[in-house]
Amino acid sequence: MKTLLNNREIEYQIKKSLRAQRLRVAVHCDARVMGKIVRIGGGKREYKKRREQAREFVLKKVENMNKIYNFSFKKISIRNQKTRWGSCSKKGNLNFNYKIIFLPERLAEYIIAHELCHLREFNHSRDFWNLLAVAVPKCRESRRELRKGIILK
Ligand SMILES: [Zn+2]
Repeated sequence: MKTLLNNREIEYQIKKSLRAQRLRVAVHCDARVMGKIVRIGGGKREYKKRREQAREFVLKKVENMNKIYNFSFKKISIRNQKTRWGSCSKKGNLNFNYKIIFLPERLAEYIIAHELCHLREFNHSRDFWNLLAVAVPKCRESRRELRKGIILK
């Protein structure tokens, strides 16, 4: 459950115990980040297992989101990277991290639209963000969420 405390959203749980005589409140030290930080790991085996699933997922999403933009691109590759979710080369090739399949849908869509927009704007200028906002109106929020809350291992 969630509630607001000093304008911050706090997640909490109520547990009922037949043995408990009184109400007990426990605040855990990780409460500050609870539910926010997600670690996504996986070695070579995981990558091999999931690569085709990721490819299908990405191709479908690219096709859908590119209906908005209609950009042309060359190749789409699925990679196992530690630091990047995606990239776009000057030649028009798109690369995506296979771990994108583990993300919430809105973040996966953000990443895909982000790389698509680099086909037109090869930078992070205002024009780039405006273009991205056409498909993903909350793109800046998603960017922040990915930067702060999700750690690739
Ligand atoms: Zn970018």
